[in-house]
Formats: sequence, structure tokens, C-alpha cells
Amino acid sequence: MLQVERLKKAFDGFQAISDANLSVPQGEVVAVIGPNGAGKSTLFNLISGHLQADSGHIRFLNEDITNLAPYKICHKGMARSFQLINIFTSLTVFENVQTAVIAKHRLDQKFFKPSKRLVVEETLDVLESLGLLEYKDRSCSSLSYGDQKVLEIAIAVGSKPTLLLLDEPTAGMSSEETQRIVNLIKHLSREKGLSILITEHDMDLVFDVAQKIMVLHQGKTIAQGLPQDIRNDKSVQNAYLGE
Ligand code: ADP
Ligand code: MG
Repeated sequence: MLQVERLKKAFDGFQAISDANLSVPQGEVVAVIGPNGAGKSTLFNLISGHLQADSGHIRFLNEDITNLAPYKICHKGMARSFQLINIFTSLTVFENVQTAVIAKHRLDQKFFKPSKRLVVEETLDVLESLGLLEYKDRSCSSLSYGDQKVLEIAIAVGSKPTLLLLDEPTAGMSSEETQRIVNLIKHLSREKGLSILITEHDMDLVFDVAQKIMVLHQGKTIAQGLPQDIRNDKSVQNAYLGE
């Protein structure tokens, strides 16, 4: 579904991504792990078009999407959340998700105005599937941190992606909130058939949800494979897991 090959990105001479390689098979949950500063968020920004790559290739559904604008990549079926919460704080929970639902329809068909009923139905569907229905009329600034993180995922899901990118979805969360995200990732993957790419610090979570793991170290992919193989990989243990 997604292939990243020999990707490079420097900031003012600092090579943040020096050789990133990744493949996400259809329907799988894949985790990118690596210490702070390894380049995980930068890699996500390159994949979603929020940053331009210096060289290398990103293919999504057999199309080269390297350096396309974020909205074009979103239109092809990729959506993401950010490490720092990115929601419309002056809108209600319902309005936040509705924005994504409408935007997706506009991208699909430029002059098509979806009926209000369709938009409401789809928005409520997303809210229900992410467990936010009871908060739909709340101002999102009144939500707890955990609920705001879930809302951000709901906005991404509102654009009906086939591939969802989640950058540290449990950063700063309590263990109950983290478990909620784990259940949500499993639900979106198993029940909704989404392919999911996550970065995550919590190794228990990674080994619980991911079918495949890629290890990024100083901007370079040092290993990629099944969780049990990654756990036993000596170079990974030296670079990361042994820390
Ligand atoms: P991670 O998400 O794995 O913690 P990041 O991708 O955020 O890592 O950062 C990787 C490296 O690139 C860090 O050293 C960071 O300081 C640097 N970096 C990230 N974004 C920028 C930027 N916009 N300008 C300069 N340096 C950056
Ligand atoms: Mg990061």
C-alpha cells in the first residue's frame, strides 16, 4: 500500500532523514520506532506531503506521491494525526469531524454539494465508531486531553482514509487513556479495514498492535520486520531497545 525508498531530508545541512525505507502492506498496522530525534515525525511529514523530500521515493497505492501537496495526498486516501494536537478549538466536536467529511466530498467531486443528511449521517458514524458520540455538542476545548487526541483521530477518519498515520497517539496519556487508543487502533484496523502507520514510544503498545515494525535510528532505517524478529535483532537492541 505504501512504499518509502531511500528517502532523504536535511534541515540546513543537518541530515534528519538519511536513508528511510518502509513498506506498509494493505490492512496491517505498522509501527515506526526509534529514540527521540530519530526522525519519526519528519518521516511522517514527508509521507503526508507536509515537508518536501530532498531525494528518494514515496509510493502510495502504486502511484508516486513524492512531494505532492498534502491535500492531494489526502484525496488519494491518506490521513494523519499530529504529535501535538491539531483541532479547531472554537468548533464543537461534531463540527470538527464534519469539516473533514465535507472537505473529503469536495475533494472527490469539485462541484458536488453533499446533502446535509449525508454529511450528518457520516459525521455521526465516525463519532460513534470512535466513542465520541456523547460529546458531539461539546466545545472541543472543554474535552480532556485524551478525548482531544481521540477527536484528532476522528477528524482524520472523517476524510475516509485507507491509510491512517498516527504520530505518537498516546503521548502524554494515562494508562487507561493509552488502553483506549490501543482498542481504537485495533477497532479501526480489524472492523474498519484501515491500514495504520504509527510512531510510538510505548513498546508494550507497539508489540501489542503492530504486525510489522520499522526501526529508525539517526534518520536511517536499521531494521524492518516482524515484531519477534525486531525484538531479537542485535543492532536494534544496541541502538534502541537496550537503552
Ligand atoms: P522524532 O519524531 O523521531 O522525535 P523528529 O523528526 O521530530 O524526530 O526530528 C528529527 C531531527 O530533525 C531532530 O534532531 C530535530 O531537531 C530535527 N528537526 C525536525 N524538524 C526540523 C526543522 N523543521 N528544522 C530543523 N531541524 C528539524
Ligand atoms: Mg516525533
